[in-house]
Amino acid sequence: MPQLSLSAAQPDARSAATYLKALQFPAAATRPALATTSFPRSSRVIDGSLAALRERESDGDPSVDLTVCAPNDTVVGRFHTGRRIDNRPESLPNWRVSTTTPETAAAISQLLGGATADDWAQGVVTGSPAVRVVLDGADSVTTELRLWGPQGLVHHCDGVLFLSPAEVQGAPCGCPESSEERAALAKKLRAPQPATTVVFRLAGRYDLGRFEFSSPSRILADAAVTARTQLAGIAGEALCELALELVTVSVGGGVEVSYRKPTLTVLGPWS
Ligand SMILES: [Zn+2]
Repeated sequence: MPQLSLSAAQPDARSAATYLKALQFPAAATRPALATTSFPRSSRVIDGSLAALRERESDGDPSVDLTVCAPNDTVVGRFHTGRRIDNRPESLPNWRVSTTTPETAAAISQLLGGATADDWAQGVVTGSPAVRVVLDGADSVTTELRLWGPQGLVHHCDGVLFLSPAEVQGAPCGCPESSEERAALAKKLRAPQPATTVVFRLAGRYDLGRFEFSSPSRILADAAVTARTQLAGIAGEALCELALELVTVSVGGGVEVSYRKPTLTVLGPWS
């Protein structure tokens, strides 16, 4: 059964009221500010991997560029589930990858299939719906929820605590606890939308550097909770699979709707 719930339970009046109150009147901070809620950064690279790369670079291997793959915060590309054609969104059966350099685009094309577009900045529409990736750890998967209003950001939380502004950071945000309740409330009210970000390297081309995938999918936001728990149980880097999975749901009256959901599966330690 697909995870998308089209008939989620309605929120009770009290939780909706609490929620609205929290949206409109953020409580004063009652807890110490979170140590950090920013984008996950890691400067750790497995010694063996880095040593191997240095060796290849010193051997004159042109595919190794330690200015890219050395430990730093640079994201060298982004994964996308679709593209825009004539300014209209189109979902794709396979990953599209945009990159910061034509060299990385060529490497993606070689690894995952697909041709680089004439304008390489548009990305490579690959031939792969699933790709093996390497994550640093639980901090590589983050979910934040945001609600924007005419004046700017109205509500910014991780589902439990405010992430900003500084005056309320770390205070309970009032969002419903269960994902079903959040989804139901989002249908009735203007509720914060999740954005889940995964930062990873490609298992097949670890040396390319870090890539990023961001998604507003509520299904991925829910799955991210499980993934973080699993990643926390793995010492060191973890091998995972990032995939686009075709889902078909019956919406009644014999009508079926298909869409692709991004999935992140933790496979085990990367060694
Ligand atoms: Zn919230």
